[in-house]
Amino acid sequence: MMVQTFLIKYAEIGIKGKNRYVFEDALVSNIRRAMDRVEGTFAVTKEMGRIYVHAKSEYDEEEAVEALQKVFGISGICPVVIVEDTGIDNLAAEVVRYMGETYPDRNLTFKVNARRADKHYPLDSMELNAVLGEKILEAYPEMKVDVHNPQVSLVVEVRSRIYLYSEIIPGPGGMPVGSGGKAALLLSGGIDSPVAGYMIAKRGVSIDAVYFHAPPYTSERAKQKVADLAKIISAWTGQINLHVINFTDIQMAIYEKCPHDELTIIMRRYMMRIAEEIAKRSGALALVTGESIGQVASQTMQSLACTNAVCTLPVFRPLIAFDKLDIIAVSEKIGTYETSVLPYEDCCTIFVAKHPVTKPVLKSIEKSERHLEGVIEELVQKALETDEVLVIG
Ligand code: ATP
Ligand code: MG
Repeated sequence: MMVQTFLIKYAEIGIKGKNRYVFEDALVSNIRRAMDRVEGTFAVTKEMGRIYVHAKSEYDEEEAVEALQKVFGISGICPVVIVEDTGIDNLAAEVVRYMGETYPDRNLTFKVNARRADKHYPLDSMELNAVLGEKILEAYPEMKVDVHNPQVSLVVEVRSRIYLYSEIIPGPGGMPVGSGGKAALLLSGGIDSPVAGYMIAKRGVSIDAVYFHAPPYTSERAKQKVADLAKIISAWTGQINLHVINFTDIQMAIYEKCPHDELTIIMRRYMMRIAEEIAKRSGALALVTGESIGQVASQTMQSLACTNAVCTLPVFRPLIAFDKLDIIAVSEKIGTYETSVLPYEDCCTIFVAKHPVTKPVLKSIEKSERHLEGVIEELVQKALETDEVLVIG
């Protein structure tokens, strides 16, 4: 039996009133975009505060469900059977057929859970539960009623038409991307930053990404790897404008003029400054990184404080308290891990000092950066001007 229609459930907490429309409209358009990538034709409709996906052609159910499971804001995906309201006898026959086809095994406990959005229906919910339950028992004596803890809860929702469903496939939860503004993700080729982007997008935030590369020290393949990671997370985050920034001259200048034990921190401060400029130009309201306390020298509390000091926009670090293993588990779940661990060089690893400071002092970092004055301003301008934007997803 091919599912003709899916009812899309979403969490309604916190989206009452005016926000509800913003939330629902973003969700509908994100579902449409996701279904455009699935083979077949689908209509996504919003009817009386409910969202449905109707199949208009043959399609692969697994592929469709997988696509819907990547749309943030969906809490559940229910395959439904729609019955025209032509009287209780017809409804009972359809309910019996539904139970027989959906549960060919038949050894189960169930309850009927009727709901009337249309109060004009001649039977009330209690009566519907009783009548339909009885018909099911008559047709399939192996099935048993259990009103407290049934294996199958059959929802019969009476609207202008009648909707039958009993299965809720879990959705990804979260908020529809685009309903919560935009942020700029510092995306490297590592494990952490793609996960950070995924997590922020889950809260409804759309994403632009910034990648710093250092040709010829970093290769085209390293850049391609970042584009590949952006492509993987774009299944959740939606389209990503990936800004590729040539960082070589800035990195060289820092290398020549600043103490080597402070290289990483100073470099990261310039990354943040440039990312912030890109964020502002593209209307992003915050920066996002994959940093986690203590993971490396540049992510101690002192280092994070020094890096943060150059930013005026909020910097979100969704992984700040995550252990590496927990981050890896998410990256495996979202499919970025295998790409992240490909061994291409990263611009940070090429100029790293043997003994980087782990407790940098802001005053000292700022003093070192003064050696760059007169040179760095132009290099930053040039890096911003030569920004290459790849549209991903
Ligand atoms: P990741 O696994 O995300 O690469 P990491 O453990 O390698 O993180 P760092 O290299 O210290 O950690 O980077 C910390 C954060 O800074 C990254 O999560 C990312 O947000 C940002 N970042 C680092 N290098 C780059 C880069 N070349 N381009 C863009 N962002 C970067
Ligand atoms: Mg990295």
